[in-house]
Amino acid sequence: MLAMVDIKNTATSNEPPASTLPLTILDEDGEELFECDSCGLHYRPSKSTSSLRLTYCGFLCEIGDLGFSIDGLEQMEIISTSDANADTSSDEGGSVDVNEEPNPVPSASTST
Ligand SMILES: [Zn+2]
Repeated sequence: MLAMVDIKNTATSNEPPASTLPLTILDEDGEELFECDSCGLHYRPSKSTSSLRLTYCGFLCEIGDLGFSIDGLEQMEIISTSDANADTSSDEGGSVDVNEEPNPVPSASTST
């Protein structure tokens, strides 16, 4: 009796826990679930609000992992063009040195 219990114990301890197996997880509709790179959540790529829907479950995880969102970058470029004028105006105006070279020799050949 004791020997049987011993065998059963060694058999179960050799088995790896099922939760750590890298299996493809499907939801009830048969759609493949992806694991979010940021939070580790299993999600449907078609329901993801992230631009990188194969990587992140949503845009919040995309921002949290990358520090920015792809969608946000496109909007930031539009805003930064209007802000660029204020930045460059402060750089200029320090020394305005217009180097004008007066031409002392008149060209006589032009007038006939
Ligand atoms: Zn996530």
